[in-house]
Parts: sequence; C-alpha cells; structure tokens
Amino acid sequence: MSQIKNPLELYKHLNKSNCRKCLLPSCMAFAVAVIQGQKTLTDCPDMDTETVKELSAGIVSRNSRQTDTESILKEFRKEITQIDLAEAARRLDAPFQDGMIAINCLGKDFKIDATGEMTSECHRNPWVEVPVLHYILRSKGKQPTGEWVTFGSLKGAAEWNQFFTHRCELEMGKLADAHNDLFFEILHIFGAQEIDKVTNSDQSLVIYPLPRLPLLINYWEPEDAFESKLSILFDKTAEENINTESIYLLGRGLVEMFRKLIVQHTRDGKLF
Ligand code: SF4
Repeated sequence: MSQIKNPLELYKHLNKSNCRKCLLPSCMAFAVAVIQGQKTLTDCPDMDTETVKELSAGIVSRNSRQTDTESILKEFRKEITQIDLAEAARRLDAPFQDGMIAINCLGKDFKIDATGEMTSECHRNPWVEVPVLHYILRSKGKQPTGEWVTFGSLKGAAEWNQFFTHRCELEMGKLADAHNDLFFEILHIFGAQEIDKVTNSDQSLVIYPLPRLPLLINYWEPEDAFESKLSILFDKTAEENINTESIYLLGRGLVEMFRKLIVQHTRDGKLF
C-alpha cells in the first residue's frame, strides 16, 4: 500500500455517500479528521476490516497520538501472548472459556484470546481495546470500596486531567443538556444504577465501563442563574485497577457512544 499523506488521497478510498454515520458532515470531513488523528478508520461503519487494515498501513497521520495508540495496542497484544490468561481471569474474577477471557464493558462481552486479538458483537475501537487489554495486564483486581474521588486526584492524572475535563465531562454534559431524556435512557441501557447521593446533584448514576471500574455520573440541572453541570467520580481503587490514560480513553469512548446513539435515535439525526 502506498502512503496516504493527505485527506484527498484518503477521500478516494471512501464511499462518498456523506451518510454522516461517523458523526461528521461528509466523507471529506472524515478524511481530514483521520489524517489529523482525530478519527480512526474504524469510525466509518461502511469500511470492512480488511480495507481498514490495508489503508491504516499507508496512512501518515499528522497527529502522533493515533500512532501512539496503535503502538500501545501492538505492545499490549504482545504482552498478552506472554501471560497466563486463565490466571488473569482468576485475578479479575472474569469468565474464561475456550482459551478466551471475557471482559464485560457496559453490558457487552469483549473476548480476548491468547494472541491478544479481541472479538465482540460491538464495534471495536482503540477507546475500548486499549483499556480492556490494559485491565487484563495490569489490574490488581481490587474490589471497589465505595470511596468516590475525582479524576484529578488519581495517581498519574496530572497529564490527563485537563483533557478529561474538556473532552469527557464537558462534552458529556453538553449531550445531557441537549438530549436530557435520551441521555439518561441510554445510561440505563448501559446498566446504570441510581445510588444514594454522594454529592448534592439532581442525578447520581453508577455505570461499569469495566467490571471493577465503577464510574459515578453526577448531573446538576440548570437552575435560575446557575448553569447545568456534569461531573464524573471514580472509586479510589481505580488507580490500582487501571491507569489514568486508559480511564481517559474510556471516557472518550463513552462520549462517542452517546453521540452515535443520540444521532441514531433523534428524528433529525442532529446532535445540537
Ligand atoms: S460514515 Fe463513512 S461513508 Fe458515511 S460520511 Fe462518514 S466517512 Fe463517509
């Protein structure tokens, strides 16, 4: 595959239907986003796995973050080949069958074999793959204690805190404001459970992006002069079960999932 260095070269390989399922207004916008490293080819549901593999090998992204994610994935897959998956399943109290460990993410199982390859009935993307593999490799399997803390107070959060606030909490808050009923309906589809209030928020719901990584979403409705607010808290054990980069990726993945579902379930297919 020859190198793809600009959006025009990539655009030639897209179907040009401008169907917007990638949540961008056109195939050209998608090509630009991929070259800039803001989207991956797997975000276009029209593209089959073989084409994704073939094109990915040729894309020269302007943003090294995507390349970083790909190399992390490669490294994690290699590490998976060197561990005892059955032992990892015992450590994490996860199902193990036919040589595969199953990790439940928001109600869906992601199965990983001894080569680190992942299969799922869901659309796979690095926002889920990296955290799931990281969880298998590094989680101490600690049971959550119910002590809720902010993302910023977790070990190693300094580098990611600003990104997490802007690209996870604020983005999720905008979706909750614009599509309030649907937003909370989706949370319930993800298995969200209401808990006794930890804060003075109007809504407090817990979801499990990974089995031992509960995440508490608090939402304050707008009132008089006060704007709405959404915050996400973590169990204190989160820092022993996963690292902050993976938590950030999970947060981004959640926002993307919300966006996709909202676009699919609103009449005009618009987010805002
Ligand atoms: S989902 Fe794929 S085909 Fe549809 S607009 Fe985006 S890039 Fe084009």
